Amino acid sequence: MNVPFIDFREQYHAIKDKVDAGLKKVFEDGSFILGPQEKAFEEEFARYCEAQYAVGVNSGTDALYLALLALDIGPGDEVIVPTFTFIATALCVSYTGARPVFVDIEDRTYNIDPARFKAAVTRKTKAVIPVHIYGQPANMDEINAIAQKHKIAVVEDACQAHGATYNGKKAGSLGEVSCFSFYPTKSLGAFGDGGMVVTSDKNIYEKMFMLRDYGRKGRYDHKIQGYNSRLDTVQAVVLSAKLPLLDEWNRMRNGVAASYCKLLENESGIKVPVIQKDRTHVFQTFAVRLSNRDKICEAMQKSGAGVLIHYPIPLHLQEAYAELGYKKGDFPVAEQLCREILSLPMFPHMKKDQVEYVCDTLRGLVEKKL
Ligand SMILES: *Cc1c(COP(=O)(O)O)cnc(C)c1O
Repeated sequence: MNVPFIDFREQYHAIKDKVDAGLKKVFEDGSFILGPQEKAFEEEFARYCEAQYAVGVNSGTDALYLALLALDIGPGDEVIVPTFTFIATALCVSYTGARPVFVDIEDRTYNIDPARFKAAVTRKTKAVIPVHIYGQPANMDEINAIAQKHKIAVVEDACQAHGATYNGKKAGSLGEVSCFSFYPTKSLGAFGDGGMVVTSDKNIYEKMFMLRDYGRKGRYDHKIQGYNSRLDTVQAVVLSAKLPLLDEWNRMRNGVAASYCKLLENESGIKVPVIQKDRTHVFQTFAVRLSNRDKICEAMQKSGAGVLIHYPIPLHLQEAYAELGYKKGDFPVAEQLCREILSLPMFPHMKKDQVEYVCDTLRGLVEKKL
């Protein structure tokens, strides 16, 4: 059997009619950039996140970058980032001229360790970027308390956590400013690049609004040196069609995750994800830990089970960040996780026999002790 890592065909069929009609209107009206459908989607997404404002931008990376600029972060500043995440979480800091300061993660959730964050704070620290890795929110109460005490801004990287909750509150409402990606493989994905900044802070909102559109207030009245980073109307139409289905798709992902856990959790040698009681997980990614990951990964792929590794190298050991002078052994929890983690196929409409095939294959390989 061949099980793809992601198969979104059924999601597409569920929204096709709405998308076709919506796109036809955009094409006929010609309102391709920041059209009325984009404005409408910003409002829908802000409401979904239980926040006041949302500003569409052209990627999750730009959402993070412009959010940091809106907070006046730049050269001489430090921003604390978990070392176990996608590199965009750190690149956005580097773009501003500030320095990313990496810290280790919790062994249970793979999210930033609040104690490590606290220990890394200096006089130069201006912000922390907790990442809700794989779709489970970080420990936001502790992070917000530490940040408040040291007057540090909290920028949520919610690029993997559309719809996740922490103490009943939605991702997108858990920090000063929150950033989302609509890259096609995210749980709310566009048909191209897209992103969103969400906030309930009016000042940040007003600055973001200018930053993403050449710094303008009026048509040719430029208040600041802004950027060209906007969400296309075409993508907004697709995202508006998908948003009403997101909660149901997240429930379906949780159903797939529950089946995986049931079939794998009793196998010694396989560690399944742990969901903390005070939060919900949206399983953008379902990942297990294995001691012999590399050989098993290769054998799984050969058997037609579309597995991937998120992520094989922590950021502090990436060549791109050699200049910061970190070395092997600096963040042992993340380094060990990078050796053990394996992402299994995950999409809302995954079938029972597909889940079973992946689990049977994985259990067989683990028992063979490759
Ligand atoms: C996807 C992702 C990003 C970047 O989003 P893009 O839209 O691809 O620029 C940033 N952070 C995390 C954690 C992500 O998963």
